[in-house]
Amino acid sequence: MTFRTLDDAGPLAGKTALVRVDFNVPMEDGRITDDTRLRVALPTIQKLRDAGAKVALMAHFDRPKGQRVPSMSLQPLVRPLSDLLGAPVRFAEDCIGDAAKAVISDLDAGGVALLENVRFHPGEEKNDPAFARQLAEFGDIYVNDAFSAAHRAHASTEGLARLLPAYAGESMRRELDALDAALGNPQKPVIGIVGGAKVSTKLDLLKNLVGKLDRLAIGGGMANTFLFAQGIDIGGSLAEKDMADTAREIMAEAKVKGCELLLPVDLVVSTEVKPGAASRTVKAGDALSADDKILDAGPETIARLTAAMDASKTLIWNGPLGVFEVPPFDAATVAAAKHAAELAKAGKLVAVAGGGDTVSALNHARKADDMTFVSTAGGAFLEWMEGKPLPGVEALNV
Ligand code: AMP
Repeated sequence: MTFRTLDDAGPLAGKTALVRVDFNVPMEDGRITDDTRLRVALPTIQKLRDAGAKVALMAHFDRPKGQRVPSMSLQPLVRPLSDLLGAPVRFAEDCIGDAAKAVISDLDAGGVALLENVRFHPGEEKNDPAFARQLAEFGDIYVNDAFSAAHRAHASTEGLARLLPAYAGESMRRELDALDAALGNPQKPVIGIVGGAKVSTKLDLLKNLVGKLDRLAIGGGMANTFLFAQGIDIGGSLAEKDMADTAREIMAEAKVKGCELLLPVDLVVSTEVKPGAASRTVKAGDALSADDKILDAGPETIARLTAAMDASKTLIWNGPLGVFEVPPFDAATVAAAKHAAELAKAGKLVAVAGGGDTVSALNHARKADDMTFVSTAGGAFLEWMEGKPLPGVEALNV
């Protein structure tokens, strides 16, 4: 896919850029607890300011369902954003109409305004063209820097791109480039790691990946379902026994498509899921008791996985390999993260990871920074891994 970036936008001095960002930050008692999403938007904002553009930021916060909900205002973000930028940020109490017009028209070249929550209007989530036209009214160009909202066809993520010259922001561009390097147009061989709790939530993802990858390692609770489907004793482990047929279908499909599946060959088992709980390592196929739970992959599985990474040029990773929140059941996830990060740092592996719990798992392993790219987009990253078109990205396609 091809898309225009800010480098293609021509002279921007005095022009107004309507910039869609993802400022849906975690908040507690009106304070931001993690400002990653504000930081992610800074390169785009700075680039536009340097070019002399006026920057009007559009974002959603929470789910006000088309109504003005004061507790879901973006106003509390003004000060932290201004501190990060080192420049004043004006706030418009509405994203359309006179309130937006007054603030935007008052901006100097390089000035920044944050517009109130776009989801206060029902037209946003309905992708209502009339609402999109109202948003477009004060802008000369549209910039989408919110990959994490790109799986939704909303007025500020999709509709606007049809009304104004549309460009990918810096963070969107980095994300799309990384995703392209991992799955769109990767260096082969490509290995995937898919872990996490359930097969049922990652069915489309598994089906898409077996058709594209050279190797796929399956771990976490979902591996239990695959082991069960092969008649392996899983004791009282988390598994979706009603998905056994589906697991067998995926295994058959992998065979047809030439994708080597790596399932755990040894398992870390405990009767309790609590920090420091006594555990033992068993071979897949050994008899387990009804209160035994498989909570992590064993050392032989890890060795096979790291060897498979050594033999690959590209890694795409979603989901932990065990109950990583409860040590010692974080061992396989941490070992895999360390190995991937080392290879990535040495330039031997393009390592791209993403999806909610994956980011926490990599942070837990303290290896997120060493990966080639870690996407913090949850739903959008998963839909992309499932091979689904993302409306916000498609709309930028030229
Ligand atoms: P997901 O959101 O599907 O990526 O699942 C992540 C969750 O899967 C984490 O909270 C892990 O603790 C959990 N998980 C991973 N492996 C297992 C396992 N063997 N048994 C139970 N839960 C697991």
